[in-house]
This record gives sequence, structure tokens and C-alpha cells, in this order.
Amino acid sequence: STQIQLVARPVGWPTHDDFRTVAVELPALADGEVRVNNEFMSVDPYMRGRMNDVKSYTPPFVLGETMTGGAIGRVIASASDELPVGTVVLHQLGWRDIAQADAANFRAVPELPGVPLSAYLGILGMTGLTAYVGLMEIAGLANGETVFISGAAGAVGTAAGQIARLKGASRVIGSAGTAEKVALLTEKYGYDAAFNYKDAPVRQQLADAAPGGIDVYFDNVGGDHLEAALDAFNDGGRAALCGAIVSYNSTERTPGPDNMANIITRGLSLKGFTIGKYLQHFPAFSAEMGSWLSEGKVVFDETVVDGLDNSIDAFLDLMRGANIGKMVVRIS
Ligand code: NDP
Repeated sequence: STQIQLVARPVGWPTHDDFRTVAVELPALADGEVRVNNEFMSVDPYMRGRMNDVKSYTPPFVLGETMTGGAIGRVIASASDELPVGTVVLHQLGWRDIAQADAANFRAVPELPGVPLSAYLGILGMTGLTAYVGLMEIAGLANGETVFISGAAGAVGTAAGQIARLKGASRVIGSAGTAEKVALLTEKYGYDAAFNYKDAPVRQQLADAAPGGIDVYFDNVGGDHLEAALDAFNDGGRAALCGAIVSYNSTERTPGPDNMANIITRGLSLKGFTIGKYLQHFPAFSAEMGSWLSEGKVVFDETVVDGLDNSIDAFLDLMRGANIGKMVVRIS
């Protein structure tokens, strides 16, 4: 099996020298184990946090060991009655072409007509669920509300904009980092207004896009985006704090919003969450998202990078914003 390992803890932006590719000889299958040919693996912003040696909600990657992360593949050898050869399985043994472990580490998923397996890493999987839980459970989106979503053209953001609309938001506003992404938000993803945060201060652009204020903010970015949302909130506004990518590769401390007092005067609620604590919503999400997809009410993009050899570049490109929708690596 070809596997990617972390060998040094990056400071700031990771470089290729922080990783190595190794060939691992897999032992014969033990009773209850399966061997899986990975077809796609996920690269996600949270993995940058796991490269640091700090206590967090997911443990750090161990230096000199193969990294882990979402992947989907097909069983190619099996010593388990539950997962026969040919079963499609979703699991956490990414960053390698062949995964082998006890069957309990893998979850069988159905192949859906017209839907690529990679969708289980995005719109039908972790990032779709994050958008759903963030809006419905964390922010408590209600009918007729105005929603602002940052990182709107990414995996979580493209899902969140569409879910907000389907769940009754009356106005959905998004921000992203290129003109192409901004155009897609209104033309394909049903956003009412969108802006490029690189064009002018977010505070000013959000005020222009939301003359009636915002009720819900889905934060993927942090920093000046959060500050702008705190200015734009109506009384009783709620923020789902999902990510703060502005700081993931920064070596300096990011300044806090200068308008925190709005939380008091407008009675705002800001609630952070990590999706691992909300997996009980997966069945409801999957049923609803499955029907939205089959009815054509939800669309999605994926940016597919070919080859495990290019997975570090895929990860870096994700954080530089080269992706539209979910960034995935096609392994075979
Ligand atoms: P995306 O597909 O959104 O990819 C990341 C995007 O972030 C890039 O495409 C880029 O788009 C944008 N970006 C990068 N740097 C900056 C910056 N300095 N300012 C503004 N935008 C930036 O990734 P995901 O959808 O997987 O994740 C989105 C967010 O949600 C991340 O913050 C992630 O950590 C978080 N997350 C949290 C989870 C949780 O459980 N709380 C679960 C999953 C994700 P652009 O061109 O627009 O800059």
C-alpha cells in the first residue's frame, strides 16, 4: 500500500518537506478484516489543525505515521461475512491507496444511480451534514430570515446556501474569493446576492448586500467576516461558528472583532460546533438530502485532483481557494 505520512510539524503554510510517501507491505488478512481499494479520499481544512501538536477535538497526526481522513472505496478482499468483496465502504483510512483493517472500521453505503462515490465525502457526507446541522440545530434558522454564509463557494458553503433556501430563508447572501465563484453563487446555487471579499472591506460589502440586516450568520472564515456579521445582525441574530480558515495557516494571532458589544445590545447568540458531536442527525440529513438530490433541488460541484501523489497539492490548493465545491482526490 502506498501511504502518505506527516514527518514534520508545519509552521505556517505546510510544504512538501513536511510529508513523505512510503510503501507499506500489508499482512495477510486476519479473521474479520477487509482490504479496501480506495477510490476517493477527502482533503479538509480541519486536517491543518491535526498537523499541529496541540490538544483539540481531533487528536494530532502522529509524526512518522500514515495520516487518516475520510475515504471511500470498494472491498477487494474479505475475511468478514458482513462486508463481502465488491461492497462500497466509507471510512477514515484515507491518505493511502489500499486500506486494511477490521470490518468494524468500515461502513457499507449504497451506490446511487448517477451519483459519484465521492459525493459521500461531500454533499451526502460530512460537509453536507455540517451545513445542515449548522443552519438547523446550531443557528435555529426560521422561515423568512436573511442568512449570510462565508466561504460560500466551498463544500460546506454551497450546501448551506441551498439548504437555507429549501428551509425557508427569504434572502441568502454569500461571500467567496474569486469573481467566478461569486457568479456561481447567484447563477447556480440560488444565492440572492454575493460578493468577493477581496474586492473591498467585508463590512461595507455586507452592509450593501443586506440592507435589511441579517438574522443568521454561518461562519466558515472568522476574522473580518465575523466582525462584519456582528455589525449587520438584527436583534436576536444567531451565528453558527463552523470554521475560522482565516487563521489556519497564520503564524500571527488573528485580531478579534472590535464590535463585540453588539452581542449584548442586540441580544445575539454565537455558538460554535464540531460535527462529530452531532452525528445523531445523520439519518434525518441523509434522507432529506437524498430526496433533494434525486429531485434536482440540490446541485453540487466537486474539484477532483487525480492521483494520491498529488494529494498534498490538493490539500494546499484547498486552503488557497482553488476548489469550487468539495475538494477530493481520485486515487484509482
Ligand atoms: P471549502 O471547500 O470551503 O474550502 C476552503 C475554502 O476556504 C477555500 O476554497 C477558500 O475559498 C476559502 N478560504 C481560504 N482562505 C480564506 C481566507 N483567508 N478568507 C476567506 N476564505 C478563505 O472547505 P470546507 O467546506 O470543507 O470547510 C469550510 C469551513 O468549514 C472551514 O473553515 C472548515 O474548517 C469548516 N468545517 C467545520 C466543521 C465543523 O465540524 N465545525 C466540519 C467541516 C468543515 P475562497 O476562494 O472563497 O477564498
